[in-house]
Amino acid sequence: MRLLILAQPVPPRALEGLGKFIESRCIDTPYGEVGPFALRHPPRGRNVWILPYFGAPGRTDPRATLWAAKSLGVQRILAWDSVTGLDPDLQRGDIVFPVDYIDWTKHQPSTFFTHHGAGYIAQTPPFCPDISAAIRRHLPEARPVIYLGDEGPRHETAAEATMFRQWGAQVRGLNLVPETYLAKELELCFAAVGVVTRLGADRQRSQPEGQVRTADQIILEALPSIFAELPQPPTCGCDHLQAGPRQRGALPPNWQDWT
Ligand SMILES: [Zn+2]
Repeated sequence: MRLLILAQPVPPRALEGLGKFIESRCIDTPYGEVGPFALRHPPRGRNVWILPYFGAPGRTDPRATLWAAKSLGVQRILAWDSVTGLDPDLQRGDIVFPVDYIDWTKHQPSTFFTHHGAGYIAQTPPFCPDISAAIRRHLPEARPVIYLGDEGPRHETAAEATMFRQWGAQVRGLNLVPETYLAKELELCFAAVGVVTRLGADRQRSQPEGQVRTADQIILEALPSIFAELPQPPTCGCDHLQAGPRQRGALPPNWQDWT
């Protein structure tokens, strides 16, 4: 099963390329309720759940999102984010995919391992290699970037934008961190695409000319192929990240009880 986390607002009708709508469902988790997830049945490949997702101070605990995904039998998660372009080479409407990230969030706590400290999962590669390869193949225009994971509900200051860029970040977004490393804790694949929808606060504004809508359309057309052509079973190793002797059995202890 696949999941599309949709942090870029697109009308539901635009998602018809992912197949016929089957059902919607909310999922109860130890971290709160998540949903509604909408299930679509694509013409080829496995069913895809879709979850609208927006960075907001009162948003669902990110742990609930990942827990719910695991409960639904999801293994592959693709997030579609809307990002701020920090790098001077990035313009509105550019399509990117993160290859690494810097965590500038302050979620407390942001792990499933609060009580027994069994985390310490390697973050290389930071995003699922299988999904990243499919993105490269079907979205050749997508540029690899380093992602700064931040929190809303405000934009960055000009000084922060300059600082993030000096750190090596090329885009800033609110929806992929801590989600990407929480996915690793539950041995789920997670990768993302992004569209630059605004420029960093220390950059000159440009007039919107439909660039974002064009990028959305390109991604919408690529999504069915990205999902359909993911290798099954996964070849990336994300589904047994904790299989080493030191990490064995490190999944949250109450996971089996809950499911
Ligand atoms: Zn993977």
